[in-house]
Amino acid sequence: MRIAIVGAGPTGFFLTGSLLKKAGPDWRIDLFERTPFPFGLVRFGVAPDHPKIKSVTRGFSKSLADPRVHFWGGVEVAAHTSRDGLSIGDLLKNYHRVALTVGSQDDRKLGIPAEESRNSFSATRFVGWYNGHPDDLELEPDLSGSRASVVGAGNVAIDIVRLLISKPERLQVTDISDLALTKLKESQFQEVDVFVRRGPWDVAFTTPEVKELLDFEDVAFTFQPGLEDFQDPPPYADRTSTQNFAIFQELQERGKVMVRPRMTVNFHFLVSPREILVGKDGQVAEVELGHNRIEISETGSRIQDSGVRSKLPTDLFIRSVGYLGRPLKDVPFCNRSGIIPCDPEGRVLQPQSEQPISGLYASGWIRRGPSGVIGTNKKDAQEVADAMLSDLERGGVSDSEAFQEWLHRLRSQSLVDKDAWSYLDAREVALGEPLGRPRRKLLSAKEVLEELSRQEVPSAL
Ligand code: NAP
Repeated sequence: MRIAIVGAGPTGFFLTGSLLKKAGPDWRIDLFERTPFPFGLVRFGVAPDHPKIKSVTRGFSKSLADPRVHFWGGVEVAAHTSRDGLSIGDLLKNYHRVALTVGSQDDRKLGIPAEESRNSFSATRFVGWYNGHPDDLELEPDLSGSRASVVGAGNVAIDIVRLLISKPERLQVTDISDLALTKLKESQFQEVDVFVRRGPWDVAFTTPEVKELLDFEDVAFTFQPGLEDFQDPPPYADRTSTQNFAIFQELQERGKVMVRPRMTVNFHFLVSPREILVGKDGQVAEVELGHNRIEISETGSRIQDSGVRSKLPTDLFIRSVGYLGRPLKDVPFCNRSGIIPCDPEGRVLQPQSEQPISGLYASGWIRRGPSGVIGTNKKDAQEVADAMLSDLERGGVSDSEAFQEWLHRLRSQSLVDKDAWSYLDAREVALGEPLGRPRRKLLSAKEVLEELSRQEVPSAL
């Protein structure tokens, strides 16, 4: 059996791991990855100061070392822009099963005027920039202002806040991109405003992430309106929201008595940015806020625009309101929810007939949407692996001679195979070691090629 997995992020590796448990000795799993590097969101999404979460790559590397597993880095599949790239049809012709594990590569927008002005970014791109994603190396955020805005109350927003309030010595022992580290060392921010459209009981932060804010002992945290206004827990309050609220209270009390904090983080509840106002230089200068009324019910809360407006100055504006899937060429896609439509086991469905497309599966965020932690995708991948293994053998797949030609094509297109990655991985670690860092990430395809040219890498394809 030949299996193609498109997207070598956590879901792609969890799926590989599940399949390997049942794989025969002559099976082959080819992992395709658009960037030259494996591990997707673990490399490019997880915050640099969360190394424990990244340790999941140990298991992924074990799968990669299996002789039945192959990695094709720098190979994009089903791109809308490339005419001679690899298509889904090519994969379905050459593999018995094709699984799409491409995650959610884009971001949701606020839909407000001047959202795309200078120094206004999506969290997806800002996180990609500080984590060294090849797509985001040229972002060049201006961090010389005094006030930054972050919209949203999810874990990505809190990652960004932590990064903006970290002292350089906290960041320089991480695997943060060198580009970002240099820029952040010169950052001048004094205040970070976090805009939350509902109340403190409605945030999507998880408790360990909120608790981590307590470690920033020289940073003051303020809450507007004050937490006294939200004292009564709503009927839907659960353990997480109750714990979060208690930590907010602790942060608020500490902030009240803090003398000359190094920085201040202001949580603004019940506000939605309505417009970004730019200065003469075209760069973000102010944000106009709409103040919301909140209606609490048994099961949740709803907001309404109260019509009240206010403005705050801002020098950097980051929206962190959720990721969104990106459509693949010739693959069904639901634009509204940003996912590939699938049956409950992960078989991709035809748009009209809603019949499964033989041999095509999807798993992870591109099947369910961007929710849950990295480990949530393990269960997701197991379900899809079960479906892939239980379905009947497909006919019409290329014979071994045609497959050799296909491999020839892959070799000519790919930038990094698994042996090359193993060399690059060791190099990154070696480059980081004298600096006291877990690794110093290579950033661009150019850097990768330069590194590879230093050593003859044997091919194990
Ligand atoms: P998220 O958890 O879905 O949070 C999105 C936030 O954006 C919510 O607070 C939401 O508020 C708000 N929002 C959405 N649309 C908005 C709008 N138009 N205006 C204002 N606010 C808006 O998304 P995420 O932070 O991108 O995280 C994605 C997933 O990755 C989550 O499951 C997260 O837990 C996970 N993650 C985990 C970690 C970790 O474990 N350390 C780190 C990063 C990410 P409403 O609730 O009002 O809709």
